[in-house]
Amino acid sequence: MPGSLVETDARHVLHPWADLSALGKPESLIISQASGVEVTDSNGRSYLDAIGGMWCVTVGYGRTELIEAMTAQARMMPYFTPFGDVTNQPATELAALLAELAPGDLNRVQFTTGGSTAVESAVRLAQFYFLSQGRPGKYHVLSRVNAYHGSTFLAASLSGKAADRTHFHYESGWVHHLDSPGYDPDVSTVPAEQRLAELIGGMESAIAEVGAENIACFIAEPILASGGVLVPPPGYHRATLELCRRHDILYISDEVVTGFGRLGHFFASEVKFGVVPDLLITAKGLTSGYQPLGAVLISDRIAETLASAADPANPVFSNGFTYSGHPVACATAIANIEVMRREDICGHVREVGPYFIERLRELRSSPVVAAVRGDHLMACVECRVDGEAGPTPRNQALARRVDSYCEQAGLLVRPYENLCIMSPPLVVSRQEIDRIVGILAGALDRAARDRAAGEIC
Ligand code: PMP
Repeated sequence: MPGSLVETDARHVLHPWADLSALGKPESLIISQASGVEVTDSNGRSYLDAIGGMWCVTVGYGRTELIEAMTAQARMMPYFTPFGDVTNQPATELAALLAELAPGDLNRVQFTTGGSTAVESAVRLAQFYFLSQGRPGKYHVLSRVNAYHGSTFLAASLSGKAADRTHFHYESGWVHHLDSPGYDPDVSTVPAEQRLAELIGGMESAIAEVGAENIACFIAEPILASGGVLVPPPGYHRATLELCRRHDILYISDEVVTGFGRLGHFFASEVKFGVVPDLLITAKGLTSGYQPLGAVLISDRIAETLASAADPANPVFSNGFTYSGHPVACATAIANIEVMRREDICGHVREVGPYFIERLRELRSSPVVAAVRGDHLMACVECRVDGEAGPTPRNQALARRVDSYCEQAGLLVRPYENLCIMSPPLVVSRQEIDRIVGILAGALDRAARDRAAGEIC
């Protein structure tokens, strides 16, 4: 019974990013069915899913090919250990496929259970890489303010969103946060070249301060996703890679969100940003969210160095998970890649993505919109009250109001602080984009009227 399910949820479940002031209140939305780009709740109401599940549902819901691949693999062999020298067919085939899709010589894959565990694995690998070459002091990590890399201890330590950093102990001795690199030409008071110079200057200073001999890696989302769809100024990616190369710092590209088509390519690092990283992290869209799975793609150069520098007394890289290379998840990912290739989903995103951004930008005329930014099918509308900037209580209340009006009108966007974040399934059509923008415009109008009437404090 839906009613009792909501109560059971309120009584027993602690959701990710739970609002503790609402703990125990039976208010959860139960999503029970999904098809195409729509989800349906337990009361039979349908919504256009502009969240893409959680940045991850790319080929849409209810895809027979993925469901059949999952079922067939579960029937044939649902699980066996991936440790040591044991493997399974889907994991092996998927690793080869990823090597084919990845830039440069990223030809070796370590599978994980999701994005956070892939981030942890990549950083551990970078530290191990220098340690095994007799450089044990080179273990510090550079990240950025507003980054989001996950919710395990190290991944959360690397994340740099202010709101998530209160009331927790994080690794701070060897994790350093550079300036947030987002640059919005619509609102910035300085030219892009100047902002780029400041950011690169800041990174150079941090390297000098920490000491290049102490830094193992730099980790970066090409576009910061959960931090608010922050797009760095042109040239940032290449310049940061160049600094890393100059100082022998490994470059880790976190493509958990930007990969698998969201920006119109299987991986955005090289094609869009001119960067071939040393390590590349993928998850989410890898299986279209149908199964939990993550992966670290490792360059041949790193893998070969690791092998040749291995300690003969203990040549083991002790990192991996029970469900690394889970056969059902890997079979799903293979089917997902087949669908993406057959339907040229990246091509579709390159076609509809600019339209999505262009239509969303029309919303900038709303009195409660501070900014609209994004790239292809990752975007965000930033709300602002009376010229007040940032995630203030008033701005957050406004965004929550917008979000709830969207929900009432059959659209799910992701509320975060004063932002409405959007990452629809990649199969979204122009008509569906029009519906998203139409509903959002209506919700912004209603919220603006509430604001003018003094209803939102
Ligand atoms: N990296 C990025 C860029 C992410 O956006 C996320 C999740 N939103 C993660 C890592 C962590 O992934 P997961 O939640 O699968 O652990």
